Amino acid sequence: MRIARLTGRPVLLTDEGAIDVPDHLADDVLARWDDILAWSPTATGGRPYNPADLRAPVESARQIFAVALNYRPHTAEAGYEEPASPLVFTKFPTCLTGPYATIALPPGHVDWELELVAVIGRAAHRVPEEKGWDPVVALTVGQDISERISQLAGSPAQFSLGKSYPGFGPIGPALVGLDELTDRDDLELICELNGETVQHDRTANMIFPIPRLVSYLSAFCTLLPGDLIFTGTPAGVGNRRVPRRFLTPGDELVSRIGGVGEMRHRFRRATP
Ligand code: ZN
Repeated sequence: MRIARLTGRPVLLTDEGAIDVPDHLADDVLARWDDILAWSPTATGGRPYNPADLRAPVESARQIFAVALNYRPHTAEAGYEEPASPLVFTKFPTCLTGPYATIALPPGHVDWELELVAVIGRAAHRVPEEKGWDPVVALTVGQDISERISQLAGSPAQFSLGKSYPGFGPIGPALVGLDELTDRDDLELICELNGETVQHDRTANMIFPIPRLVSYLSAFCTLLPGDLIFTGTPAGVGNRRVPRRFLTPGDELVSRIGGVGEMRHRFRRATP
């Protein structure tokens, strides 16, 4: 099952197009996920739609967790030792935007980070690792867009604000139910900037896979329906390239995860 948000309304995506989720299930699709899953086989057909009209499939997450240094080649390019436990920060929820948005570039060094995003559908606290997939009902594609100067300023650095400008958390194009995936633990990630591949890895190479992240996070926080976990980025970010490279107005960034979907973003200068 693939659930998207089309001009503000939740829809089921089928091979033919989009079907409105019934009103009585549409107020909170993550909390009603199992009911929507039960309804979905009865929905047939679908109307054509313009992908540019898709919005963020989760518009107001209560908690967004993000994980640093979760792929070994990225850990090495960033100049760090492999972490012993997940390194967690937040992207404040006002950074969320849609899968085809144009994103404003504030002053500084704005960089890309393609990431698989796990979407929580069941409240959970203290989840053992062997049950770590249980609260997750869907996956989606995410970009942990980051302004590097503010992210890395200070000692110790405080990651969260430099990663939370408006538009710095694009997700989508849809919430892809785990039923859609043949191997949820091994998905191909490809990030392209102006047609050039800049990141390419597989989620099977995560240092801390999703069940471990859910177990770790839920040992502290209660996870809630609609919460998002940005699971970390592979190697190939602009800040660690030689020469360094950052996003500029007019760039096109394509973010693709096998079986989950593709996002496409343009960038413009932020108005002062
Ligand atoms: Zn990241």
